[in-house]
Amino acid sequence: MKTIQNIKPITEKMKSISLLIILTIAAITANSQDSYMNKDSLIAKTYFKNTKFHEPVLINKDEISKTSKPKNVILFIGDGMSFAQVSAALTANKGKLNLNYFEVMGMSKTSSASDFVTDSGAGGTAISTGKKTYNKAIAVGIDSLPMKTILEICEENKFSTGLVATAVVTHATPASFIAHNKYRYNYEEIALDFLKTNVEVVIGGGRNHFTKRKDGRNLLSELIKQGYDVSSSIDEKIKAKKFICLTDSLHPPIATERGDYLPNATKKAIGFLAEKKAPFFLMVEGSQIDWGGHDLDLPYVVNEMLDFDRAIGVALEFAAENGETLIIVTADHECGGLSILNGNEQTGEVWGAFSSDDHSPIMVPVFAIGPGSEKFRGIYENTKIFYCILDALNIKP
Ligand code: MG
Ligand code: ZN
Repeated sequence: MKTIQNIKPITEKMKSISLLIILTIAAITANSQDSYMNKDSLIAKTYFKNTKFHEPVLINKDEISKTSKPKNVILFIGDGMSFAQVSAALTANKGKLNLNYFEVMGMSKTSSASDFVTDSGAGGTAISTGKKTYNKAIAVGIDSLPMKTILEICEENKFSTGLVATAVVTHATPASFIAHNKYRYNYEEIALDFLKTNVEVVIGGGRNHFTKRKDGRNLLSELIKQGYDVSSSIDEKIKAKKFICLTDSLHPPIATERGDYLPNATKKAIGFLAEKKAPFFLMVEGSQIDWGGHDLDLPYVVNEMLDFDRAIGVALEFAAENGETLIIVTADHECGGLSILNGNEQTGEVWGAFSSDDHSPIMVPVFAIGPGSEKFRGIYENTKIFYCILDALNIKP
């Protein structure tokens, strides 16, 4: 209920009332919609020992900036990732991560328009539109009106675009780049918005939101009619100009059970977009780092972080070959109030503690590499990321 108490007054009374109704529904129904919200049998797991170490990719990082202005942008969002999550992963992987290649760093303030502690809807919207909004909103303003997203702006500027996630693609983070909705849990409405864009590649879960719908429509058949290849396999050979790959009826499994899903999906999306020769914008989400925090489960958090770092390695390899790609790695917010109490870089052991089973307002890191990366230094609001990317691409917002 804290969301309701913390709402800032909105000038027009009617808007304020309708917002309250939306948020009340949100508070009542949220628990039943996301399994990670079920706290009945929650016991914190605060020790992790890594058994699956990965080597960072071998690249010459000077090759990443062959030009002064980027042609392509790859934006990684680690949902729920802040400094403790990065520290834990770094310790667990013996001090070596692909993230170590990034030399430009900033800190992003994540509060939303309605709450000091943001959710992923408002957090994603801040990054995707450059504007703060209320918690649970998807690329709409505090007036509930749609706000143009960076993916839509890139499409207008003849970019190819893509979204990759390890959650349902209708989930708050990917949704805030492609959909507009007053309320993040309107998954079936959000799925409809995938028909209204020209996004070239989408990989993630959530087939049910496209095919098992209250309105009886089969959105995947409709997407095929719009020129998409539709598949449930990342390895599908794509013949069409656009590709929607929904691997699971709902969320993809956790990192330890999904193998190379995220690195493979990232590779597939980058390869497909790069083939088109046009500039591209790709957002890749490590969706479940956050869920490890909600579950007070350090092994879950770190395994998701290590998986996310392997996907970052795939993008670094491409960027070093391409020379015109800006890569940004950031987060929408922290989750779990995680702190790291001890660790061992020789054995890959980490001891942590959670102070919360929800998001916290601590700042999150912004890592950048490649042409245009220097813009991301400093301490700033999360909304600045949107403007920095467009500025780097020389596009007027
Ligand atoms: Mg997310
Ligand atoms: Zn969360």
